[in-house]
Amino acid sequence: MKKTKIIATIGPATKEEETLKELILAGIDVVRLNLTHADHNFCSKVIEKIRKLNLQFKKNVAVMLDMQGPDIRVEEIAGGSAKLSKGDKIRIYKNEVLGDRTKFSLNDDEIVDEVLVGAKIFVDDGKVELEVVAKGVGYLICEVKNEGFIATKKSVNICKTTRIRPFLSEKDKSDMKFATKIGADFLAVSFVNTIDDILEVNDLLISLGNDDIEVIAKIETEKAVENIDGIINECDGIMVARGDLGIEMAIEKLPGIQKKLIGKCIEKGRISIVATEMLASMEKNPRPTRAEVSDVANAVMDGVDAVMLSGETAIGIYPVNAVAMMATIIKAAEQNINCIELLDKAMRSEINDTVGLIAYSVVDCANRLNAKAIMVTTMTGTTARKVSRLRPASPIFALSPNEATIKKLALSFGVVPVLVKELHNFDKITQKTIEVAKEKLKLVAGDKILITGGYPFVENSPTNFMKIEEI
Ligand code: PGA
Ligand code: MN
Repeated sequence: MKKTKIIATIGPATKEEETLKELILAGIDVVRLNLTHADHNFCSKVIEKIRKLNLQFKKNVAVMLDMQGPDIRVEEIAGGSAKLSKGDKIRIYKNEVLGDRTKFSLNDDEIVDEVLVGAKIFVDDGKVELEVVAKGVGYLICEVKNEGFIATKKSVNICKTTRIRPFLSEKDKSDMKFATKIGADFLAVSFVNTIDDILEVNDLLISLGNDDIEVIAKIETEKAVENIDGIINECDGIMVARGDLGIEMAIEKLPGIQKKLIGKCIEKGRISIVATEMLASMEKNPRPTRAEVSDVANAVMDGVDAVMLSGETAIGIYPVNAVAMMATIIKAAEQNINCIELLDKAMRSEINDTVGLIAYSVVDCANRLNAKAIMVTTMTGTTARKVSRLRPASPIFALSPNEATIKKLALSFGVVPVLVKELHNFDKITQKTIEVAKEKLKLVAGDKILITGGYPFVENSPTNFMKIEEI
């Protein structure tokens, strides 16, 4: 049973029910819909199919909607593209102009006012780098740092801007309303820079009456890395979004940042996701490269909650192979996870709450006793998350009568959510947890399991017991 979760981005290659079924059976935990490419109609259809398949196969695959955020692109260039040489000067105008090798404009005109002198502007996934050397009224003067082409509609990443307008665009707001209406389980927020960006998202969710959705901050700018502590505090989890982060920052810094961010999430009890190009070559090939296998395995051995597939499953030729391969790599890598070291790391943050202390005792006990499972009864998912944070060696079965809780545990390391009816007395809790453990695992006489939760098993009842059961 694998503990690290898999997120698969759904696109044209995987939108049909039959393929979605194969992805589910190959081991995905969450589907991601990328709102930069997928419209609401596409998302609704996929979500409907996933919900049907969940019922059919008794699965709990959850849904993540990934917001577009600022999507800056080059406006029209005469003839489609223009060649720039190193050392050239080029102007970016606020008002629309037909572009050439001396000037162009962007689809976002306000950005010209927000960019600071010294900013770096990357065109087409970083293939061309420009540096802003001066600002005029309504334009920027940039120096071309390397030879390359700018072309119509190519992507633009800008580092160093002072935002003078709200974080959320009209499209993002409408996407958040859609996420609420459709009951998405996770909301991935693109291009977060500061704690205020996340607060703006949380405020809108409150005004939409959406308490259930889990907010994942995508860390894809240098500023977000600088502000990481504040951002982590205000969200439910983060995604190391290596695609854009690798353009906005020196690419060689990514591995170190990834390790540091996973560590911080474990300390703070937040979900961590590593994303982008994990098995990139499998978009076109049935087998991954050695480097990709190592990349996935290293994230797993660092104790990440989830790894993500993007183009591999959205537009690749081998989407099901990619998921199956990811699951295989995860299972092998998990044999090398050092649970004691990860527990030590998690303990670096102070634990002074009852739930945290009980969770620690449970995991410590389970590791020492070589327990086969940790059974958690949980209304909101908090107890299960606190146990998961400590990265126990055994699987965690989270029993909850609350469907939203079941879904939001889809990304937590080691947690297998199980929907149950409410359990009204302590004997019933013990009986049911043992029954579930026996159903999910091959237990033999003498095997031990740990049971923890809050009694009575009702809303707002704090975690207050742990029990060791021998089969
Ligand atoms: P994206 O985000 O796929 O939405 O761009 C992930 C990343 O930038 O890595
Ligand atoms: Mn991105």
